[in-house]
Amino acid sequence: MHWQGHYLDGITATRHPVNIILTPAGIQIKKTDGSVLLWQYNEVTQTQGYYAGEQIRLERGADPVEALVVSNTEFLNVLRFMASSSAGKFHDPAIRRKRLPWIILAVIGTIGGLSALYIWGIPAGANALADHVPPEWEAKLGEAVAKELTVGESMCTETLPQQSIEHIIQTLNSATLKHPYQFKVYLVKGETVNALAAPGGHIIIFTGLLEQTKNAEELAGVLAHEMQHILQKHATKSIFQSLSVRALIAIVLGDPGIMGDVIGTLGSLNYSRAYEEEADYLGMELLLKANINPTGMIDFFHTMNKKYGNEPELFRYVSTHPLIAERIRRLKEQAKKASVTSKPLLIGVSWQQLVKSCV
Ligand SMILES: [Zn+2]
Repeated sequence: MHWQGHYLDGITATRHPVNIILTPAGIQIKKTDGSVLLWQYNEVTQTQGYYAGEQIRLERGADPVEALVVSNTEFLNVLRFMASSSAGKFHDPAIRRKRLPWIILAVIGTIGGLSALYIWGIPAGANALADHVPPEWEAKLGEAVAKELTVGESMCTETLPQQSIEHIIQTLNSATLKHPYQFKVYLVKGETVNALAAPGGHIIIFTGLLEQTKNAEELAGVLAHEMQHILQKHATKSIFQSLSVRALIAIVLGDPGIMGDVIGTLGSLNYSRAYEEEADYLGMELLLKANINPTGMIDFFHTMNKKYGNEPELFRYVSTHPLIAERIRRLKEQAKKASVTSKPLLIGVSWQQLVKSCV
């Protein structure tokens, strides 16, 4: 992107018209005589352009002080984005427009990732961006996604399943490394045999899937897998990867209109095979660390494969989680290697009764 502006050399009062390009290395200033200057971001200071209608003035050096003047305020957005770690030196025009505070937080947190996005493109940039997103931002995004996906649906709020699921989550969570997320499970009444993870800790389980589990350990297998999708930021990364650079910049600049697009993306989200395998492996690891019987996860996958393996379109858990024999074999292998004495997850609870209370 080219910008028009004026350059002052600090010695004479002449305003030289210049063509400006913001590069990863710095601000490239091209004069009409063809000569080019490169200002590194860390040596530049903004001295004007904090108010609407005011020109942006950047200065460099002490004696003489060179200056660059640009009228287009959009220049500041791109400048902050390109300046990466020096972005804080430049005024954020979004603040002037009174954006939501969490969006501003996200702006600061994601500058680094966006630069990567610009330099390496999607998906490498999307991954770097996801790594820089503050967890509070992911939680907000995940909550919005979960709300959108469950709006109008009836929820199972019975005490027994709620408390039991909470207990399973807590047991698994106590075995994770320290992390910033708060897990929340939404139990949605519906025949869909599916479970999905939205960013920042939000997990949606359909009662159709719950009905297919035979005990708490089987559900724990599903939950451990979904928790790992969240802990590894798979949901956030996948959302970012599927959005255009334009949409990502809109998110960072705080355009609320973009949320609809983000949510639409998650509805049709398929994790890559690599993410699924990672969630399997780390999910199993989590079960073992939490002393939960690992056969639950394997048995559930077996059931899914036997029942729905040939009908992927009808049952979303199968279509979003391709249950190939190879994955089951690997899980078995992993469980066999571990020597854990597992403890029963729920004592004195009839799983059948629990499931029935929800349908
Ligand atoms: Zn998965």
